[in-house]
Amino acid sequence: MEITLMHHTPLDVCAHAIRTCWQSFDKSDEGGEKDKALIDRVGNKYKHASTLEHLVYTFYIKGVSRALLQELSRHRIASPSVKSTRYTLKELKNTDPFNEDDYTGANKFIVLTGNNYVDTASIKALNNLQEILKMGIANDVAKFCLPESYKTELTWTINARSLQNFIELRSNKAALWEIQTLAHKLFKSLPSEHQYLFQEKIHNNKHN
Ligand SMILES: Cc1cc2nc3c(=O)[nH]c(=O)nc-3n(C[C@H](O)[C@H](O)[C@H](O)COP(=O)(O)OP(=O)(O)OC[C@H]3O[C@@H](n4cnc5c(N)ncnc54)[C@H](O)[C@@H]3O)c2cc1C
Repeated sequence: MEITLMHHTPLDVCAHAIRTCWQSFDKSDEGGEKDKALIDRVGNKYKHASTLEHLVYTFYIKGVSRALLQELSRHRIASPSVKSTRYTLKELKNTDPFNEDDYTGANKFIVLTGNNYVDTASIKALNNLQEILKMGIANDVAKFCLPESYKTELTWTINARSLQNFIELRSNKAALWEIQTLAHKLFKSLPSEHQYLFQEKIHNNKHN
């Protein structure tokens, strides 16, 4: 998977929102150490967490499975815009069938698990789907036999409060391995000056 942080709100916007409550704008150091400490104190320690909603991140997430997408979509306090299979299945239709052990070739379309039985079954499903598309069956109908491993991509916008919740839940070893990887990669793609807000939420495990 590939993660690109496309946009983020500077920390001083959040500090400004907090300082609005006490009209203490003159104490700001424009997103420096004083403002960072204020955001942590008010947003995290005092649990005035709605102030963290002023920090918003937009990521481009590429090469994740539809199994992961289904779980990501459960996070209601975020906005996903997802590649449509209805409009994009022609890229599979215009490819040749894959050999069942051609993991490198099929990797363009499916997320591989490293388990040969599962990955071969995914390639078979991919070839079945391709055959159906080549028969001229509409994408809208053909997509119902997509394997869960089918790759997708999305633009995903989320605020810092909700991202804390996501990282805490999904970097945990109880979560699906692929979404654990996503949680760690999202954390790593954050601007370094923002990472302290998420440090206590991230679980270290083998999917770092
Ligand atoms: C390890 C793991 C296993 C899971 N297994 C399953 C499963 O088997 N089946 C399944 O269906 N789901 C499962 N889930 C999904 C889980 O139930 C949540 O839907 C998902 O993690 C999103 O969490 P959230 O509601 O906190 O996030 P968001 O939807 O982003 O919500 C963020 C926060 O906003 C608040 N909020 C949002 N909506 C409401 C509301 N309507 N009312 C009150 N407060 C609200 C809550 O404080 C919430 O924590 C699993 C999740 C994990 C991490």
